[in-house]
Amino acid sequence: MTKTHPSKERTFVLIKPDGVQRGLIGEIIKRYENVGLKLVGMKMLVPDPDHVEAHYTLDPNWRRVTGEKTIKGYREKGLTPPSEDPLEITAKILENLKKYMSCGPVVAMVWQGAHAVKIVRKLTGGTEPLTSDVGTIRGDYVLDSYQMSDPDNRAVRNLIHASGSEEEAEIEIAHWFSDSEMTNYRMVHEEILYDVNLDGILE
Ligand code: ADP
Ligand code: MG
Repeated sequence: MTKTHPSKERTFVLIKPDGVQRGLIGEIIKRYENVGLKLVGMKMLVPDPDHVEAHYTLDPNWRRVTGEKTIKGYREKGLTPPSEDPLEITAKILENLKKYMSCGPVVAMVWQGAHAVKIVRKLTGGTEPLTSDVGTIRGDYVLDSYQMSDPDNRAVRNLIHASGSEEEAEIEIAHWFSDSEMTNYRMVHEEILYDVNLDGILE
């Protein structure tokens, strides 16, 4: 990956069908705008289930990591996980995710700015809404849990997908957007966020 200026870091965000249905598109966009990030790409679409599967399996470790995270989530609450095999757990999650993500329109976005990946994950909150921090989007706007979703054999509804690392962001952006669908432009507020000398304010 070619290293560009840190203020040009990009991340991929998707408002899932429940976010659109809950009327939260504006609220979610506002959270990322408020922090100073710049929207450089956005579109609404109904994703194909195969496109969703490809999205989640772009990272070869995703199956293992997500299964392990689920097992840990159960254990931390003193509950028994549905299986001890992370891959068995993720196989089910993936099937359910395909159904969830393709059930209606989603809003796909690319956000740019310093530490875009980490800042967006921080504002978005942890995967399981029950334990997402208060003040995060998932913590403030939704109430699902593995305990609710797993017996019903469905994906946990948490409003948003956001890239987990810079590497993940790069491949996810390429999976959802062509270069011509993103726009390079300057915003006036970038002066106050990134300018070194701040010598253009006083008259
Ligand atoms: P994140 O979206 O926080 O990066 P993951 O990449 O681990 O989380 O998982 C992708 C998505 O799969 C989650 O956002 C959630 O919708 C769903 N999911 C993850 N783990 C579970 C689970 N144990 N049960 C149901 N759905 C899950
Ligand atoms: Mg993830």
